[in-house]
Amino acid sequence: MEALHSLEPWPSMRGARVAVLPVGSWEQHGEALPLSTDSLVAASLARDLASRIGAVALPVLPYGVSPEHMDFPLTVAIDPVHYCLFLRDVFASLERHGVRLLIVVNGHGGNVAVLDACTREYSLRGGMRILHLWPWEAVAGELGGEMHAGRGEASVAAYILGRSGFKGRGEPGRPGCFSYLRTAECSGTGSIYPGEYESDVELGERLYNTMLGYLEEKAREAMAGLGL
Ligand SMILES: [Zn+2]
Repeated sequence: MEALHSLEPWPSMRGARVAVLPVGSWEQHGEALPLSTDSLVAASLARDLASRIGAVALPVLPYGVSPEHMDFPLTVAIDPVHYCLFLRDVFASLERHGVRLLIVVNGHGGNVAVLDACTREYSLRGGMRILHLWPWEAVAGELGGEMHAGRGEASVAAYILGRSGFKGRGEPGRPGCFSYLRTAECSGTGSIYPGEYESDVELGERLYNTMLGYLEEKAREAMAGLGL
């Protein structure tokens, strides 16, 4: 697989004004998908976005805010306060080196609320601006009842990894899943999806390209607004 972040040495990083930071999670993704699914998707989209807009692609932050999945083996959950504090150190480092716009490509729904608060607070100080993007928003209508680790996510993972045959079974969500109900209280398999599913690489490619197009549109809009 191609590298998921920029591989140039530091001299070519000098003068970089726009950078893309993917953030993911290490959490259960049902009985079929790897724990790294969100990180893989975010890193791949970030790399492709960076090459389209001429930005530096940073390495993915592989852990996220995943308390909802902690009933399943090996999921790692970062406290939202620690997560934001860690990110602020990343932000401050990039700002010091002259980055004017940081685009955060977020692959995990559980990160959305803390990232919204954390990136907005940092941006409004008036230095480096941060655009937080949640690519799954661009395909939410198409995914219907899939909340986590269903056919759509399996298909995107299959497309990125160049393999097929992710087969799993989910259970439909109910009010409260991911807010006041843990995943295990909503689904025994960890997948919240109405029934059985199998990955479809063509569907995955289409969803991926829709998400990438959405990211590019939002990134270019922010760059134009900031004169970058
Ligand atoms: Zn996921």
